[in-house]
Amino acid sequence: MQRILIVEDNKTLAKLIAKKISFELDFEVDVAYNLAEAKLFLNRYNYFLTLLDINLPDAPNGEIIDYVLDKKNRAIVLSGNISKEFRNKVLQKNIIDYVNKSGVNDINYIIQTIKRLQKNQNHTILVVDDSVVFRKHMQGMLENMFFKVITVAHGEEALGILSTNQNISLILTDYHMPVMDGLELTNEIRKNYTKNDLTIITVSNDNDEEITALFLKSGANDYIKKPFSKEEFSCRINNSIEALENIHTITNHANRDFLTGLHNRRYFYEHATKYFEEALQNGQNFAIAIIDIDHFKKINDTFGHDSGDEAIITLADILRTSTTKDDLVARFGGEEFCVLLKNISADKALEVFERIRESVKSSITKGSKDEEIRYTISAGVITHPQDTLEESISEADMLLYNAKQNGRNRIVNN
Ligand code: GH3
Ligand code: MG
Ligand code: MG
Repeated sequence: MQRILIVEDNKTLAKLIAKKISFELDFEVDVAYNLAEAKLFLNRYNYFLTLLDINLPDAPNGEIIDYVLDKKNRAIVLSGNISKEFRNKVLQKNIIDYVNKSGVNDINYIIQTIKRLQKNQNHTILVVDDSVVFRKHMQGMLENMFFKVITVAHGEEALGILSTNQNISLILTDYHMPVMDGLELTNEIRKNYTKNDLTIITVSNDNDEEITALFLKSGANDYIKKPFSKEEFSCRINNSIEALENIHTITNHANRDFLTGLHNRRYFYEHATKYFEEALQNGQNFAIAIIDIDHFKKINDTFGHDSGDEAIITLADILRTSTTKDDLVARFGGEEFCVLLKNISADKALEVFERIRESVKSSITKGSKDEEIRYTISAGVITHPQDTLEESISEADMLLYNAKQNGRNRIVNN
């Protein structure tokens, strides 16, 4: 487990923060009451994060900060009321944040910040700037905030990276750059990526308000004017990333089935329709199956509805692990699923579905009272599509009906 070190001579406060972190987050927490104790801990462990009081009995002037940073640890500084001048001096050091410690709200802010930093590890930021110095500066700040960072010198390079790297959450772009400037870049990116896919923030020392508006109208999410304070920078970046995460959460809720985590019917039709037309045009082979649990009502009647749900989850897991990430697997409702296998021959597709049928037949679901539930599935599979997706799915439904009529536990193909 990763560790957090709290260095704070106010024992009550230190214990309170430690308790809150242990309660709400998954970290081992160490507490040191002075610099000497902190040194012992820092020589022993690597820390995810340190929380540092800058006024300690054996280090009254923030000496702890340099010690911690020299050892390549990340730091958030805790402070009571101190002068603006000292605060600015501290902020110039490579710390993540500077937090008050006067009330409960401040402790909550610390917890939220740690949660944010943990999630930042999942995000990659692309920095586009022709100045090496500034690129390095931003890279340092962002890496300190736990982001993964890629840097490039101009717009064209940025588009190159975007076309091969699907994982970028945010682009930080300068305005004036050779080859392709920030505005052209923003316009280019927005042709393929909406604000729901990717955040763009412009960082520029251009003071022309028209330019700011132009960027925002072209699809930039935010505009940060140079020079900026580190606090403003990190707040704006974190806010944008948080907004993007919220959009993803909402989209996921709208597109997925709650019980199994598979996609739902709505998502399936949206994506399958597009694929269907492209595949027909390109002569690509594919297969669609409607899969249904046999005598599912009996499972519910015998073991109860909750155990029935477990059986549905078992099938969902088998479908997920038997297909690739390009295929579409959806729960259409009840105990009925639809699977689209992309770019596959009829023979290979039938092999996949036979394997699924076999593996369902031999799997055992543990019911809600630990009872062992066995069941089979039937499927209608089309490997030769009709004119439309809807007609193809109706055809698969018909074939499923035949499979049920002919004794169940089987796959019928057109
Ligand atoms: P067949 O072999 O012909 O498919 O028969 P069956 O019993 O599987 O099919 P039927 O359509 O008669 O019954 C399906 C049952 O599934 C009826 C419904 O109460 C139950 N059901 C629908 N959704 C859920 C669910 O989310 N969870 C559980 N546990 N049961 C569900
Ligand atoms: Mg103190
Ligand atoms: Mg059924």
